[in-house]
Amino acid sequence: MAAKEKYAEPTYLECGFGELEYKVISPEICCRCGTCEAFCPRIEHKENKPALVEYDPLCGLCFAYCPRTFLDMGELEAKLFGRTRNADEALGIFKKAVSAQATARQSKAQDGGVATALLVQALESGIIDCAVVTDRDDEWRTVARVVTTADEVKAAAGTKYTISNSVYAVKEAMEKGYKKIGFVGTPCQIQALRKVQLLDEPYDFGQKKIVLLVGLFCMENFDYDELMEGLVKGKFGLDPKDVARFEISKGMFRVIDKSGKAHEVKIEETDAYTFKGCGPCFDFASELSDVSVGSVGSAGGWSTVLMRTDAGEKLYAATLAAGAVQEKAISEKGMALAMRLAGNKAQRFETKSQEMKVSGITR
Ligand SMILES: Cc1cc2nc3c(=O)[nH]c(=O)nc-3n(C[C@H](O)[C@H](O)[C@H](O)COP(=O)(O)OP(=O)(O)OC[C@H]3O[C@@H](n4cnc5c(N)ncnc54)[C@H](O)[C@@H]3O)c2cc1C
Repeated sequence: MAAKEKYAEPTYLECGFGELEYKVISPEICCRCGTCEAFCPRIEHKENKPALVEYDPLCGLCFAYCPRTFLDMGELEAKLFGRTRNADEALGIFKKAVSAQATARQSKAQDGGVATALLVQALESGIIDCAVVTDRDDEWRTVARVVTTADEVKAAAGTKYTISNSVYAVKEAMEKGYKKIGFVGTPCQIQALRKVQLLDEPYDFGQKKIVLLVGLFCMENFDYDELMEGLVKGKFGLDPKDVARFEISKGMFRVIDKSGKAHEVKIEETDAYTFKGCGPCFDFASELSDVSVGSVGSAGGWSTVLMRTDAGEKLYAATLAAGAVQEKAISEKGMALAMRLAGNKAQRFETKSQEMKVSGITR
């Protein structure tokens, strides 16, 4: 055997939880998406991270689907869109961008309520038979839920700015027998689920049942304990139970309490609470979703919507045709701002990935 072959790097099929621990969990680049916990019966969420609870026969599944072990965006884009993105496509590949707003906006909606309207439309038209959403408890701890009604989707509206292993609930959806699962979440969660869908064999645990991915824009996410202890309780003297809403807008991180009073700091002042595993992420606009939704680029109370795949475009068109959303053209200034922020995140990735010695993530 030639020396090169003898010492070749192991393929992902030959890597197990040990390699995941070494490459992702120990160096704290894990984004806690919950994918390894969802699809490997030997991994559980313990002490707020993935933990092996049984002998690991080196099946390679956790390593394969983790968005932080390796991520070849070019390969995934080619499979999903039939081409790779051009250098000027800072928000990833999409067919159409609009500003939109749900016509019956829920008070809980973060921006235009479009993420909720899309999921409701998908459920009511039978595109999906359940949706995995990220709700919260009364202290703002995230709670991923498998929901099947419009009211349940609406109840989970609003942004929780803390890490959530929400992909784990996809397992619950499969165990409950749902066959057309929709998911809404952050770019890392969408990357993981796209890997689950698009990576070549050999694993088969029902991933064809994941049929819709609604992605959110995301600059960064926060650690629950750090954010609540440091900012909400520490700086603002608030009990998380008394918080009505969190928002990030125009460079400020704002906490609105139940009396309606706003407490705010400059976004730079929240760096200490940022989740460390968000460092090695370049993806601002959930570039691998079917349809992405964010606030940047649109007026207050409106959402920026990027339709990426045929499925995403059709779902948005049906939601518009049903009168559940109204739309207007997105301004050039709005698009430029969204693209600038996406560029900033990609630049931050370059620095952070060097600092954190991240390898295998390529755009
Ligand atoms: C951590 C985080 C950071 C974000 N950062 C930005 C940003 O920098 N710029 C920007 O333009 N937009 C950002 N967004 C997106 C923005 O906050 C809104 O989610 C988006 O504009 C959709 O608004 P909407 O009114 O259409 O959504 P809604 O109708 O209110 O629905 C929101 C959906 O988001 C899901 N969700 C809420 N919290 C989480 C979570 N922690 N993890 C996974 N899913 C969740 C819920 O399941 C819900 O269905 C961020 C979102 C998150 C979760």
